[in-house]
Amino acid sequence: MMLTKTQPDEIQNYLSDASYLKGGHASRVVFPESAEDVARVLVEASQTKTQVTISGAGTGTVAGRVPFGGIVIATDRLNRIRSVTHEEGGGHAITEAGVRLIDLQRAADAERLLYPPDPTERSCFLGGNIATNASGARTFKYGPTRNYIERLKIALPTGDLIDLRRGDLHADDRLIRLPLSSGTVIEAQLPSYEMPRVRKHASGYYIKSGMDLIDLFIGSEGTLGVIVDAELKLIPKPEGLLSGVVFFADEDKLLSFVSEARERSLTMRDSSVSESNPKGLGVRALEYFDNQSLNFLRQKYNTVPEQAVGAIFFEQETTSSSEDSLMTEWLSLLETHKALTDQSWFATNEPDQAKLREFRHALPVLMNEWFAQHNQKKVSTDMAVPDEAFAGMLRFYQDSLRDGDLRYTIFGHIGDNHVHVNILPRNDDEANRAWEIYRTFIRRAVDVGGTISAEHGIGKLKREYLRELYGEEHLREMAALKRAFDPAGILGRGNIFGEEFLKPASPEG
Ligand SMILES: Cc1cc2nc3c(=O)[nH]c(=O)nc-3n(C[C@H](O)[C@H](O)[C@H](O)COP(=O)(O)OP(=O)(O)OC[C@H]3O[C@@H](n4cnc5c(N)ncnc54)[C@H](O)[C@@H]3O)c2cc1C
Repeated sequence: MMLTKTQPDEIQNYLSDASYLKGGHASRVVFPESAEDVARVLVEASQTKTQVTISGAGTGTVAGRVPFGGIVIATDRLNRIRSVTHEEGGGHAITEAGVRLIDLQRAADAERLLYPPDPTERSCFLGGNIATNASGARTFKYGPTRNYIERLKIALPTGDLIDLRRGDLHADDRLIRLPLSSGTVIEAQLPSYEMPRVRKHASGYYIKSGMDLIDLFIGSEGTLGVIVDAELKLIPKPEGLLSGVVFFADEDKLLSFVSEARERSLTMRDSSVSESNPKGLGVRALEYFDNQSLNFLRQKYNTVPEQAVGAIFFEQETTSSSEDSLMTEWLSLLETHKALTDQSWFATNEPDQAKLREFRHALPVLMNEWFAQHNQKKVSTDMAVPDEAFAGMLRFYQDSLRDGDLRYTIFGHIGDNHVHVNILPRNDDEANRAWEIYRTFIRRAVDVGGTISAEHGIGKLKREYLRELYGEEHLREMAALKRAFDPAGILGRGNIFGEEFLKPASPEG
């Protein structure tokens, strides 16, 4: 018998997420333990037109798992790692959707394998990662979650179970045909928009002419089906790692450092550092902290140098033969760009590396706490822009925020032209100004060919900005695609599209 919880104090945790959006409510939370359990819940919900929201670990920042009526499918009990296997050049893991990322990372590590996606907050579930196409610091080298998904088992809103292996089913240009075991075939047109040409993108459905159908479900934010289990690609664990948090007293120098580290790494893509290319770096993470971010972190870390106005967290994979020469290269790069090398922090062993990662992780956590304590809605950007537009975008952020006399932090994935701006309003007047400025950021990102969400997704909080990116007509196309999978309109309501794009479902609960 499937565990079901209905008492308010028992289900409270499932009614919110890291967005701190208030008002979530549901009549019950069910805890399936198998694909068949999930299918049964969905069949009944479709018949009774009951809304269903899927819950992972609730670390999402855009209220994707926050229900407004109906029931919640919690994936906590789908938490088995079925296997981790070695193969030539890497390996595979088969896991259920409710496995925590950190548990999979540990299981892979024990086999000297690596699951590259690493979205900072490791308590998230793999199902949530796949549903948001999560990425993180290592995405600079390895790309987002999508690149590591080989097979998905999905329960569709109708209760049909599908098993999609990468390579098995492709769209015919923009027409998709998905045969179900019941004998029926789902047929639908893919939306006609082109996706922005950015290094990371998590805004609306992933669409490409002739695309692999598995990619439609990755990043679909709990609107097309419940991911039940997945087969993941693993890579050999790098032999060694050199990481650092390096501080700068001059922001222009910091940016020129990033530029050179990035350029030298991109030219090294797909090749290992070799004697013949001693200038190659192959860095896997390049993360930025502006001056205001350092001020926040100083609350917790009193060793952040006083004269520092910015910092970069980097990770560089090494081998026993490249370790020394890479260290020399990094030190020379730091000297060229006038880093505060003596006061910077470096790590070559796992415990020290974990401390540097913790420093990186502390900032979004401090930001989230700040918003919660000050009872302010989070004003936080997630835009990425094409390479040539990044320097201008960063200046635009800084100038607009200074002109608007607002407190803010800017930090994050600078290697991928994707930094998070958090505006910290102290009162409602500042909050209104913050939202006006936020909208100018969105417009600017769209104008320069960027995306409005590079990794956190649209959820319930960024729908109006998706309209700015794609326009009304393309949102209708997306909603029509959803209806092909979810004719009763029960699943993930409120995510990606507003109610105006969907048929009414009865808001039970
Ligand atoms: C401090 C902090 C730092 C973060 N840093 C990053 C970062 O660097 N990169 C990044 O990408 N994200 C980051 N995030 C956001 C978050 O961790 C990711 O979005 C994560 O992938 C969400 O996983 P979850 O299990 O918590 O999902 P939830 O929050 O529970 O759900 C997220 C969405 O996925 C859907 N969903 C969940 N499980 C399933 C399933 N099995 N099938 C179908 N749909 C499902 C939900 O309905 C919801 O729409 C950060 C969050 C925090 C709090």
